Amino acid sequence: MDRDLAQQWARIRARLRSECGESVFRNWLKPLTLIGMEGDCIRLLVPNRSMKGWIEDQYADRLQELWTRENAAVRNIGIAHEESAGPSTDTTGATHRPAQFHKETAATRTQPRDDALNDDGPKDICGPLNSRFSFDNFIVGKPNELAFAAARRVAEAERVPFNPLFLFGGVGLGKTHLMNAIARHIRAHTPDRRIIYLSAEKFMHEFVRALRYKNVMAFKEQYRSVDVLMIDDVQFIAGKESTQEEFFHTFNSLVDQNRQIVISADKSPAEIDGIEERMKSRLGCGLVAEIHSTTYELRLGILQSKAEALEADVPDGVLEFLARKITSNVRELEGALNRIVAGATLVGRPITLDSVLDWLPDVLRANSRKVAIAEIQRSTAEHFNIKLSEMSSARRSRAVARPRQVAMYLCKMLTPCSLPEIGKKFGKRDHTTVMHAVRRVEELCNSDPAFAEDVEQLRRVLEH
Ligand code: ADP
Ligand code: MG
Repeated sequence: MDRDLAQQWARIRARLRSECGESVFRNWLKPLTLIGMEGDCIRLLVPNRSMKGWIEDQYADRLQELWTRENAAVRNIGIAHEESAGPSTDTTGATHRPAQFHKETAATRTQPRDDALNDDGPKDICGPLNSRFSFDNFIVGKPNELAFAAARRVAEAERVPFNPLFLFGGVGLGKTHLMNAIARHIRAHTPDRRIIYLSAEKFMHEFVRALRYKNVMAFKEQYRSVDVLMIDDVQFIAGKESTQEEFFHTFNSLVDQNRQIVISADKSPAEIDGIEERMKSRLGCGLVAEIHSTTYELRLGILQSKAEALEADVPDGVLEFLARKITSNVRELEGALNRIVAGATLVGRPITLDSVLDWLPDVLRANSRKVAIAEIQRSTAEHFNIKLSEMSSARRSRAVARPRQVAMYLCKMLTPCSLPEIGKKFGKRDHTTVMHAVRRVEELCNSDPAFAEDVEQLRRVLEH
C-alpha cells in the first residue's frame, strides 16, 4: 500500500487515540485496519458486523473529517467487516487486499455514488441521505406520533399539506431520521420532484462560498427552484445575520410558489434565540410538531427492533434494563446496544446483565446522574405543589424560590453532580446560587423542625 496513506492513517490513529482515550481506542478503534484507497474512497476493515455498526454510528463522521484533513482526495469512507470480506486480512496493512464490500457497507454515511435515488436534482448541494433512516424502521410511540404522522403526510402528499413542517425536539430523538425518511420516500416515489436536504450549517457554508466566488445569483436560483427544501438543525443560523437574511428570502420565495419546506430544530420557533421575530413567525406558521423525550415503552420498542436488525441474541431482561437506565436519547440507547453486542461478539460470550455492566459503566453513570436531578426536581415540585417549570424559571417569590432551593440542596446531597452542573439544570443558574441554596436549607433545617421534617421526608422518598 501507498506509504503516504499508511502514514496518514498512523497520524489519524494517534489523533483518535488522544481524542477518545485509551480504553475506547483499544476496544473500538484499534481493531480498524486500513485496506487502501479506491477512487476517492478509503476502505477500512473491522472484525465483525456489530463493530462495524458501532463505528459507523459513533466515529464515521470523525473519521471522514480526519481523513479529508489529511488527504484532500478522500471523499468517502467505506467500512467493511471481515465476515463479509472473506478470510482474515493481515493487520500490517502492507498489502492492498480488495475486500468484497456489500453495497450497504460501503455506502452508509456517505453519498452513495451509484444510488439511483441521488441521480436527480442538485446533488452537489444535497447532503448525503443516510440509507439507514426510513419510515419503516422508525418506531412510533406517544412521544413522536405527531411528528411521524406529519412527516409521512408531507412525504406522501401530492399537494403541500402545511408549510413549513417544523419538527423540533432534543438531541438524538429522531429529527434527522424523519427528515431523511421524507426525502427518501419522495425520491423513491416521485423522482422528478427536486429536493434539497441539508443541514443549516451546510447551507451557511454554501452561502458563504457563493459570496466568496461571486455566484450568489446561481446560489439563489438553485435554492429557489426546488420542489422540496429540507433544512436540518436550523438553530445553527441563530445569530448569523446574513445567512438568516438569505434563508428568509429563500423561504418566502418557496412558500409563495407553494413548494414544500421541512425544517428541524432543537427548540420550537419561538424559543430559538438569536433569530429575527419575522423569521420566527414564518417558521411557526405551518405545522409545528414536537418530538418529546422518549418513554420507557418507546425505548424498549426501539431496542427490540435494533436488536433484531443486528441479528443479536439479547435477553429481554437486558433490553428492559437498558430501556430503564438510558433515558437521555435514542442515539445513546442505540450506541449502548451496539457496544454490548460488539463486546459480546468480540470476546465470544453470550450477552447477560453482567456483561452489560462490564461494557457500559460510563454510560450508566452518566445517565443515572441525569435521572437523579430530573427526579429530584419532579418530586420536590410535587411535594410543594408548584409547577415543575418553576424549577428553572426566573421567578424569585418565596413560594417557588424555597422549593427550588430544597431541590438544589437535595441534588447536592444525593447526586455526584458538581455545583455548576446542578446550577445549569436549574435554569442556567450560577454555582454560587446553588451554594447559597445549600447553606440556606441547612440553616432552616437547624432552626425549623417542621421544615427539616419536610426535607427529610423528601430525601427518604428519593433515596428509595
Ligand atoms: P436528532 O437528529 O433528533 O438529533 P437522529 O435522527 O440523528 O436524532 O436520531 C439518533 C439515532 O436514533 C438515529 O440512529 C436514529 O435512527 C435513532 N432513532 C431516533 N428515534 C428513533 C425511533 N423512534 N425509532 C428508531 N430509531 C430512532
Ligand atoms: Mg439531527
